This record gives sequence, structure tokens and C-alpha cells, in this order.
Amino acid sequence: MGLEEQSCIFCKIAAGIVPAYIVHRDAECFAFLDSNPLFPGHVLLCPREHYYTLPDLPARLIAPLFSMTQLLAKAVEAAVDAEGTFIAINNRVSQTVAHLHVHVVPRRRRDGLKGFFWPRQSYIDDGARKAVRDAIEREVRKLLP
Ligand code: AMP
Ligand code: ZN
Repeated sequence: MGLEEQSCIFCKIAAGIVPAYIVHRDAECFAFLDSNPLFPGHVLLCPREHYYTLPDLPARLIAPLFSMTQLLAKAVEAAVDAEGTFIAINNRVSQTVAHLHVHVVPRRRRDGLKGFFWPRQSYIDDGARKAVRDAIEREVRKLLP
């Protein structure tokens, strides 16, 4: 691990040093529940290798990351019975973790999410968090070839 990776919380999640509610991992990327979600089911998808922003991502990782974004959009929607999703990447501005991550956020009509005002919710308890993680993981498994 380089210096940047050693101090990166998402690299530590990838390495299993910091715990997270992982919903998927493969050769190129991994995905886990956002610890401070917009809504239950809010997932972050990251490349395993440390890159700061989307423009930094090598071309070979674009397809794996975006394919998994598409799969997670389906899985998250099904897992929490949402009406749609919001997919977002902050690059430098508003980016609080310097390891590229794709937000996959379940959406419902009139759910209160307006523009870029993002009121956060929390899980009732760890049992609720685990139930949502398990549901997303199940949907991911169904969708994987
Ligand atoms: P951004 O503001 O786009 O950089 O998003 C960073 C996201 O990472 C925020 O939504 C945080 O809630 C989330 N986050 C930060 N640390 C952790 C962690 N250890 N486990 C899960 N999610 C995290
Ligand atoms: Zn990192």
C-alpha cells in the first residue's frame, strides 16, 4: 500500500481493516452501505484500486465500474422496494473521501430529496442495517451472470 492508500478509509474497507456492510466484491470493485445514508439502502461502489476522482480512473476500469453501477441500481431498487434510484459521483468539490465512489441511492416520489440538499436518515438499529445489506446482497447475486 502507498501512503495515500494507507490513510484512505475506503482502501481500509477494501482490505478488511475497517468494517463495513459489504454488499458485493469482485476483482475490480466493491460495494457497501453508506454509514450515513440518504435513505436505507444507500450504497457506495468503489474501484478496489485507489483513484481519487472519475477522471483519474484508467479506461480499463470504466466498464467494470459502470456495469456494476447498473447492476446495483437494479439490486438496490428491488431490495428496498424503491421507485427509482439516484446515481452520483462527487469529484473533488463536495467529495469528503478521496477514493472514487459511486453513490447508488434508492428514490421514491415525494421522498423529500430536492436538488442538492441531502437530508440524511439513519437505520433504526444494526439489525435493520443488516437486513437491508442482506436484501441487496441477495438481489446482486440474482443479477450476476
Ligand atoms: P462524498 O461526500 O460524495 O465524498 O461521500 C462520502 C460518503 O461516504 C458519505 O455519504 C459518507 O456517509 C460515507 N462514508 C464515510 N465514511 C464511511 C464509512 N467508514 N463507511 C461507510 N460510509 C462512509
Ligand atoms: Zn483508497
